[in-house]
This record gives sequence, C-alpha cells and structure tokens, in this order.
Amino acid sequence: MSDTIFHKIMRKEIPSEIIFEDDKVIAIKDINKMAPEHYLVIPKKDMPSLREAKEEDKELLGHMMLVVSKLARDNGFSDSGYRVVINVGEDGGQEVMQLHIHVLGKRDMSWPPG
Ligand code: AMP
Repeated sequence: MSDTIFHKIMRKEIPSEIIFEDDKVIAIKDINKMAPEHYLVIPKKDMPSLREAKEEDKELLGHMMLVVSKLARDNGFSDSGYRVVINVGEDGGQEVMQLHIHVLGKRDMSWPPG
C-alpha cells in the first residue's frame, strides 16, 4: 500500500480540514491554497496518478467528478465558475503520488496555465 501524506490524512494520522468524505473519496482543503477556495478530491483506492487508472476505475473517476461539482455548488462558486486540475507526473507538476483533483474557486483564472 502507498504511504503518501494523503494516505496519512485518510487514516487520520495527521490533521487536515476534511470537507467531504464517503466510502470512495475524501476531500480536503489544500494547505497552500492557490485560490480563495482550493480543495483536493482524493480517491481512497491506491492510485498514484491518472496514469494508473484502469477501465475498472470508471465509476470511481466519475464519482470524483460529481463530488467536485457538488463541492462547488455547496460552497457557493458553481455559478461563478471554477478550475479543475489534475497534475500528472513530472511534467504535470505532480508532487504527491496519490491521484487528486484540484478544485479552485472564487478567483478569476487565466489561461494558459503556467
Ligand atoms: P500536486 O502538485 O498536484 O501533487 O499537489 C499537491 C497538493 O497537495 C499541493 O497543492 C499542496 O499544497 C497540497 N498538500 C500537501 N500537503 C498537504 C496537507 N498536509 N494538507 C493539505 N494539502 C496538502
């Protein structure tokens, strides 16, 4: 089993601001926020990155996207819009090797990203 900082958070070994949790995912506030609202949606299943996602993970990945949408709605930035980001591997700028979706809200985003 992988043992990233997110696994420790999921096992409640280190504290974190958990904003949503069910049997499949956990969502926390990013400790170093890049927008007024910055959350991470993380699968409980071990998956170092999107690269390792398999056909059998279809339902889990869809569920994660619906959690993203719900969090934006519940926290009041669905209508104004938001940015959803998955960093993958070295060129993608991924630092924690457990898949996570960044949700950034309540800020006007620019494009292209850095
Ligand atoms: P990434 O570069 O996509 O791997 O993003 C990892 C994210 O995890 C960064 O935005 C960090 O700020 C965030 N992060 C790292 N440690 C923690 C923590 N203990 N609690 C919440 N977020 C964290």
